[in-house]
Amino acid sequence: MVERRVIPSTLANLPLTGGETLPYEGVAMMPSVKVIKVGGQSIMDRGRAALFPLLQEIRTIKDQHRLLLTAGGGTRARHVYSVASELELPTGLLAALGGYVPRQNARMLQMLLAEDGGIYIMTDDFEKLPLYFRLGCIPVMTGMPPFGYWEKPSAEGRIPANRTDAGTFLSAEALGSTRVWFAKDEEGLYEDDPKKNPAAKLIRRIGAKELISRGLKDLIIERSALEYLTRSRYVREIQVFNALVPGNLTRALAGEAVGTIIYQD
Ligand code: ADP
Ligand code: MG
Repeated sequence: MVERRVIPSTLANLPLTGGETLPYEGVAMMPSVKVIKVGGQSIMDRGRAALFPLLQEIRTIKDQHRLLLTAGGGTRARHVYSVASELELPTGLLAALGGYVPRQNARMLQMLLAEDGGIYIMTDDFEKLPLYFRLGCIPVMTGMPPFGYWEKPSAEGRIPANRTDAGTFLSAEALGSTRVWFAKDEEGLYEDDPKKNPAAKLIRRIGAKELISRGLKDLIIERSALEYLTRSRYVREIQVFNALVPGNLTRALAGEAVGTIIYQD
């Protein structure tokens, strides 16, 4: 008779759906990494006029930080979402299809930064980050989370709720960073879309819960990223700034309050 081996485990006889049962403190993997999303529609789609000065700024400061760049999708992704929605395809398929575009943008960013250490990484390559940073690289990856077909159906409509803002946020959270940066084309978060309403007022600082409860009709960041900020363990602040203004990235990474800071309240 072979004796059954007993492995002592706190969870052995507990249901896994009954909430948190273990004390959890957590280990921040690489809290020094600064995750920055380069906007798809707001930056990449504007082409060299917007992107080249930003890349030049990245080259100048890259040795002062450990930068991980993520790419947004932009208009090409919106086009896919629109065609696929019209064809009544499900959210999971939209997420899978929409994922190709930010990947293309990430690859373009990598090639543009290749001479300066730009290196394309996959969403499950975090293990290699210590090596890449030692080599002076600038890792670049898609901002899209790898959910694809497994993206949960959205509460409304078919557009995946987790796109490149959400993926960027979750990457920073997984690494244990306390702040995550979004390089876009407006000064920050306004009370309304400043492109449609030029009189809209800029909000410099606001809590995530407070912002959600204000129910603004349009935001500069995906709502899912805000929801994550209400319950993240590491990320405490989202900073959105205008990357069309030279120097803003440098100042934001140095801890200055450029743009808008959305904090965990
Ligand atoms: P990304 O390029 O990162 O995907 P988006 O284009 O999705 O960025 O979001 C940035 C845009 O959001 C801005 O160009 C702005 O026109 C729009 N926007 C909508 N609502 C707001 C708001 N309340 N405050 C600021 N910008 C807003
Ligand atoms: Mg967007």
